[in-house]
Amino acid sequence: MMTAVSMRNRGLLYGGLGILVVIAIALVAPSHGYYLNIMMQAATYAIAVAGIVVVLGYCGQISLCQAAFLGMGAYCVAIGTVDYGLPFFVSLAIGVAVTGIGGTLLGLTTLRLGGHYIGMVTIGFQLIVTMVLTNWLGFTHGPDGISGIPRPSLAGMDLSGGAIYLGLCLLFLGAVTMFTVYLKMSRLGRAMQAVRDNDLAASTCGVNVFRTKVIAFAISAALGGLGGGLFAGAFSYISPDQFTFNDSVVLLTMALLGGVEYAFGALLGTILLVMLPEWLRFLRQAYLAVYGAAVIAIIVFLPRGMWGLLMDRYFKPRPMKAVEVAPLPLLARHGVPSEDVVLNIAKLAKHFGGLKAVDEVDMMVRRGSVHALIGPNGSGKTTILNVITGLYVTTAGKVEFLGKDITALPPHDRARLGMCRTYQNIRVFRGMTVLENVIVGAERGGNDVSGTDATLERALAALDFVGLRDVAHLPVGDLPYGHQRYVEIARALAGSPEILLLDEPGAGLNLTEKGEMAELLKRLQGHGMTIVIIDHDMKLIERVADHITVLNFGRRIADGDPKFALSHPEVIAAYLGEPHRDAA
Ligand code: ADP
Ligand code: MG
Repeated sequence: MMTAVSMRNRGLLYGGLGILVVIAIALVAPSHGYYLNIMMQAATYAIAVAGIVVVLGYCGQISLCQAAFLGMGAYCVAIGTVDYGLPFFVSLAIGVAVTGIGGTLLGLTTLRLGGHYIGMVTIGFQLIVTMVLTNWLGFTHGPDGISGIPRPSLAGMDLSGGAIYLGLCLLFLGAVTMFTVYLKMSRLGRAMQAVRDNDLAASTCGVNVFRTKVIAFAISAALGGLGGGLFAGAFSYISPDQFTFNDSVVLLTMALLGGVEYAFGALLGTILLVMLPEWLRFLRQAYLAVYGAAVIAIIVFLPRGMWGLLMDRYFKPRPMKAVEVAPLPLLARHGVPSEDVVLNIAKLAKHFGGLKAVDEVDMMVRRGSVHALIGPNGSGKTTILNVITGLYVTTAGKVEFLGKDITALPPHDRARLGMCRTYQNIRVFRGMTVLENVIVGAERGGNDVSGTDATLERALAALDFVGLRDVAHLPVGDLPYGHQRYVEIARALAGSPEILLLDEPGAGLNLTEKGEMAELLKRLQGHGMTIVIIDHDMKLIERVADHITVLNFGRRIADGDPKFALSHPEVIAAYLGEPHRDAA
C-alpha cells in the first residue's frame, strides 16, 4: 500500500533529481541567442499550460483565455518593475495574485453555466483583456508594448544572466510540474476529476462541485500569471499581440497534443509545439499548412495525447499489494430494525411544468430497515430519490434526515450528513480507477478529518465487502457492467452512510448477477444498514424488504409491510393493468 509517507519520500527524491536536471541544463544552455530564447519560451509557456491541465484535464472545464492570464502576469511584472520600480519578485507575486483573483472572480460569475457557455465566456474575457492591453495607453503603454523589463536579483545574487535566468524558469517549471502531479493524487484533485467525469455523482458523493470548479479555475489562472511574469523577464519586451486569442488556442493545443490529463504530457506538448515551427522552417511557405495538418492529425488520432499513448503502451496498472484492513465500522454492527426514523418525507411534491412526477408523497424510513419503493415505470421513483438527495429542488413538502430539515441543503451537504446513493443509469467516474472511485466516496467531500490512510482503509474495506479488491487498480471502464454497479455500491458504502439509497441495483444484470446482488443486499441488511431500494424484481423485493411504499403516477397508493402492500387492490391493478381492476 502506498502510504502518504512513502509518497512524500518519493516526492523529495523526484524534487532532488529535478534540481540536478535544472543545474545540468543551465550549465550546458547557451548564455544568449536563439536557442536560449526558445528554451525560455518553452519553459514559461509550459507553466501556463500546466494551468490548462488543471482546469481542463483534471476538472473538465474548457478555458479559452489562458493567454489572457499569461498577459496579465506579464504586464504585472512589466508595469511593476518598469513603471513603479518594484522588485522583480514582488511584481511576479502581484501578477500571480492578480490572475488568481481574476480567475476566481471569472469562475464565480460563470461556472454555474453549462459547458459550452463557459467556453464562450472565456473567449469574451480573452477579447476584453486584449482590448484593455491595447487601448489603455496610460497604464499598459498600448500597442507599442513595454520594453526594458529587468530580470531579478535575489539576496545580492544577480539572476539576470541568460543561462541563470533560464535555470530560474526551469526551477519554477519543475515546482509547478510536481505540484500538478501531486494535485492529481490529492483529495482536491480527485474531487476535480470526479466533477469532470460525472458532476451529479460527484455532488452526491459530497463534492462541492461549484467550489471545486472555481478552485480549479483560480489555480489555472494563477499558473498562467506565473508563466507570464517569467515570460516578461525572459524577453525584456512584451506587447499586447503576444497574448491574443490565437495564443490561447496555441496553449490549449499544446496541452491537448501532449495529453491534457497529464502534467508531463503538457510539458511534452509545449516543447514540441515550440520546436515544431523551428524544425519545419525548411518548408518555407508550406510551413503553416504542414504544421496545422500535423497538429490536427495528432489530436485526432491520439485523443489522450502523446503522453496518454505512452501510458497505454508502457504503463500497465499493477495490482496492489495485499493488505489487511478492518471491516467498515458501520458494517461491524448487527442491527434489527428499530423505531428510530432516519428519513422522513412529508407531502413531498415535484412538478415538471404541468407534470406531477411526485405528488404529495409521505414516506418514513426506520433505522436498520430495508424500505422498498416500487411502482410501474414513470411512476416517480427516481424523481423521489433525486429530490431526497438534493439533485432536484422540491416543489413542495419537506425532507427530514436524522431529525434535521434538509429540504434546502445542496446535495454535497446531504452526502456529508451520511446520505449515499447509487444510480439507475450507472454513474461511475470513468477516467479513474476502481479504487479512486471508491476513495472519492470514502472522503465524502472532505468533511472527514481522519486522514489519508484511514480514508484509504475505508475504501479498501468497502471493496472487500463487494468483492472487488482484486481489480482495485483497473480503470473502472474495464469492468463488466455488473461489477460497475458494485463499484457504485462500494463508493456509497465507503462513506459510512447513515442511509443507502439504491436505484434499481438489479437493472441490466443477468440472472446469476441478480442472485449475487440479492446476497449482497441480504448481507447489508444483516449488518443493520438502513436502505431504500427501488427495483422491479418482485422476487428480490419480497426477499429483502421490511416495508414497501408503492407509487403510481407520482402518488402513493399503498404503504406498509410487504404482505399488506402487495395485496392492496390498487397495487394489483397498477401492476396488472386496468382489466384486472375491472375484474376486481
Ligand atoms: P421511475 O423512476 O418511477 O420510472 P421517474 O421518476 O424517472 O420514474 O419519472 C417520473 C416522471 O417524471 C416521468 O413521467 C418522467 O418522464 C418525468 N421526469 C423525470 N425527470 C424529469 C425531468 N428532469 N424533466 C422532466 N420530466 C421528468
Ligand atoms: Mg427510475
